[in-house]
Amino acid sequence: MTTTDDQPFDLLGIGIGPFNLSLAALADGIPDLRTAFYDQRLAFHWHPGLLIEGTTLQVPFLADLVTLADPASPWSFLNYLRTRDRLFPFYFAERFHIQRAEYDAYCRWVAEALPTTHFGHQVDTVRWNPGRALFEVDHTQLDAHGEAEALGRTYTRNLAVGIGTAPYVPEPLRLLAEAPTVPVIHSADYLKQRERLLGTPHITIVGSGQSGAEVFLDLLRARPAGREGLTWIARTPAFAPMEYSKLGLEQFTPDYAHFFHGLAEPVRDQLVPQQWQLHKGIDHDTINAIHDELYRRTLDGGWPDATLTPGVTVRTAGRMGAHVIELHLEHEQQATRTRLTTNAVVLATGYRERPLDQLLAPLDPYLRRDAAGRPRVGPDHRLLFDPAVQDTGASIYVQNADRHSHGVGAPDLGLAAWRSAVILNALTGRDPYPLPARTAFTTFGLQAATVSAYARPAGIHGS
Ligand SMILES: Cc1cc2nc3c(=O)[nH]c(=O)nc-3n(C[C@H](O)[C@H](O)[C@H](O)COP(=O)(O)OP(=O)(O)OC[C@H]3O[C@@H](n4cnc5c(N)ncnc54)[C@H](O)[C@@H]3O)c2cc1C
Repeated sequence: MTTTDDQPFDLLGIGIGPFNLSLAALADGIPDLRTAFYDQRLAFHWHPGLLIEGTTLQVPFLADLVTLADPASPWSFLNYLRTRDRLFPFYFAERFHIQRAEYDAYCRWVAEALPTTHFGHQVDTVRWNPGRALFEVDHTQLDAHGEAEALGRTYTRNLAVGIGTAPYVPEPLRLLAEAPTVPVIHSADYLKQRERLLGTPHITIVGSGQSGAEVFLDLLRARPAGREGLTWIARTPAFAPMEYSKLGLEQFTPDYAHFFHGLAEPVRDQLVPQQWQLHKGIDHDTINAIHDELYRRTLDGGWPDATLTPGVTVRTAGRMGAHVIELHLEHEQQATRTRLTTNAVVLATGYRERPLDQLLAPLDPYLRRDAAGRPRVGPDHRLLFDPAVQDTGASIYVQNADRHSHGVGAPDLGLAAWRSAVILNALTGRDPYPLPARTAFTTFGLQAATVSAYARPAGIHGS
């Protein structure tokens, strides 16, 4: 059965992760804006496999879905606490970084209360309808078991694509991870597999980001002293801390995103990998907790049965019988290769942006691309199209799919409310959410006029 909603929306969101949920929450405050948000999942859940007890957000609670654009919104974290009669306990807890499970519960409260969110709606494709100057969105409605129930078509003038990221498994481990009998899992599935992992004599964790550290710590705490049976390896040269200095964090401001967007494409492409410590390191508290736990285990003499080695690459891997895996390892700096036998592997190997290409394939002839073939994205997070689409005013905005154009802040929850406000301001052509002109003490880049005024005597010539 196919259902068609012929009356076009002003805005249709694809995906309901934190970013489009923020957009839905702020759009809710704009009268007469007809919006809907679709997600293929049956309910809101935020990274359920990694809601390890005690883990916290890496950003303060003020980076909720709305506050940094509209502190008076009814969808703020503080208002969530008020509805739960928990404001006083939160006030005395003095916690700036809330537990991840609490953020998940807060977002679910918003997702369930907003009338515009629709779960069990998987968007299949987006087409351009030139006759109506609208986007046509085909979707599949899923039943309570996630099975296709009905097909639908929706029309919209604007889209916000917030389909997020998917777990990434490196090539040498892909076949192993796909074999169901061997416990080789991505960290995204950690909690689902935790008991099974704990039942194995030796576990290897691959990856030195926050997830790798959290999984290592959780397993370490759960194993008996002296019989930990853990190896933690990572490609990075060290188990490095995440940059958390106050001026360093200004690279997660709208000012920096604006500066980054103005840089030449090759410069932007060089910068992103250089900035890995801004988002790929481990937070100080987790590093300290790991060290404390290891140290505690030496108090009776002896060392814990845990090996932590950075600078190591997994070249290949193979299964040796039903319960043993062999990893072929290389330490490049040392020019050494070895083999490690283990009974389970947790791949904390990160996530990659879900490609837009499949969803937007019919729009390909209209889409402008950069030199590397990626969609070109305007400063207001709008995909750039040929005039045939662009000049109609219809737009597709992207959330968390624009690291190549907007820099390391693209997946940062601290920019969610701001980006939603930018999108709603651009889409409505009014300023429902006025935003400040300046957001950082650092001035990123030089003003051309300033360069010429000060620099000429010293021999620097601004353009
Ligand atoms: C464990 C973990 C912890 C993190 N902690 C922090 C943190 O503390 N601070 C921070 O700044 N960042 C953090 N991040 C990074 C980032 O904020 C999160 O990844 C965040 O979830 C990104 O939100 P999103 O809305 O882009 O996408 P997602 O949360 O990935 O949601 C995307 C949604 O789109 C849906 N979808 C995909 N395709 C379709 C389709 N075709 N049709 C319908 N629906 C579709 C998916 O079902 C999903 O629900 C963390 C990331 C991880 C993995």
